Amino acid sequence: MLEQLPERVRGMHGYVPGLQKNDSSILKLNSNENPYRPSRAVFEALQNLADPEKTALEKYPSPRSHELRGAIETTLGLSPDSVLAGNGSDEILAILFRGLMDPGDTFVMPDPTYSLYPVLARAAGLNFRSVPLKDDFHIDFEGLLKASRESTSPARVAIMAMPNAPTGLDESAEDLERFIQTFPGWVILDEAYSPFAEKSFMTLAGNRYANLICTSTFSKAWSLAGLRIGWMVAHPELIQQMDKIRDSYNLSRAAQVAARAAILDVSWQTDNANRIKTSREKLIQGLTARGFRCIPSSTNFVLARVPAGSPEQAARIQEEMEKRNILIRYFSHPRVREYLRISVGTDEQMDRVLASLDEILD
Ligand code: PMP
Repeated sequence: MLEQLPERVRGMHGYVPGLQKNDSSILKLNSNENPYRPSRAVFEALQNLADPEKTALEKYPSPRSHELRGAIETTLGLSPDSVLAGNGSDEILAILFRGLMDPGDTFVMPDPTYSLYPVLARAAGLNFRSVPLKDDFHIDFEGLLKASRESTSPARVAIMAMPNAPTGLDESAEDLERFIQTFPGWVILDEAYSPFAEKSFMTLAGNRYANLICTSTFSKAWSLAGLRIGWMVAHPELIQQMDKIRDSYNLSRAAQVAARAAILDVSWQTDNANRIKTSREKLIQGLTARGFRCIPSSTNFVLARVPAGSPEQAARIQEEMEKRNILIRYFSHPRVREYLRISVGTDEQMDRVLASLDEILD
């Protein structure tokens, strides 16, 4: 029977997540999770949910995640009805890929960027043109524009992580705005990591720029990766259209109440981002002192070129770290195979990483 499956599905490769091992002795720094527990307000909201006197779990949740959307809009200063919530930003991205394009359409993206985009493209029957990052790892915006004009059918969508992954590099506001103004289709900025950067374009999406869509997630900066909640910001008319193609009840009650409590606790999030940024600088200093070359990071991870600058050393360090119960990410992508990506944890965790590197490099 399987031969009857479309080639689009049989021939594609699935997304490869960082190794998931949930042993408490393991220091997991390979999926850019947040090392801290979420705000206490999240646990209180979940406790209320677990109380049979207060919650009717036998009833479906709000289909539109109504209160959560409102809380995101007010807290982040966004226009009413400009938010759509989803089961992780991965679901939001899948909705956009299905909703903005027809099978056979083409989109453009930098390379490397978030490795899920090609997977979603294959699953939705889309074509893409990827434009290599420049030598300094910044995005080649001119190249993206050129690729969008040169594709057999002009690209309707440009997508990129901003700051980018796995580099961690942010782009200047001027370059981004010029690109958004010039690109003839939708521009999707995947802002999963923007709370750790100096800027976000979320308030401009669907507002100053009708063609701009920003996506984001509670997984990183709100410590809620385990509950799967993301959102997009766009013009209210586009939100209405995309609302038609999402799953009818795409967020559980647990996800809705937890995310609402998390976004309303603004000071928790500010403190958390500051803690992570401080540990990030400590990690960068420690790596640099050991001969690594770090790409300036605006995220909760650091991409660092190993001292010998060879893929063999990068792979060896990753394996040696794993033997010491520390999981970090090695990519076989040709542009970054002399690099390792390390998620930023607590200061103590960063000390453990640096001490292990000393043993390995000795
Ligand atoms: N975008 C980027 C750039 C990411 O790195 C990730 C995490 N792997 C996501 C989106 C997905 O986030 P979520 O957990 O909300 O699906």
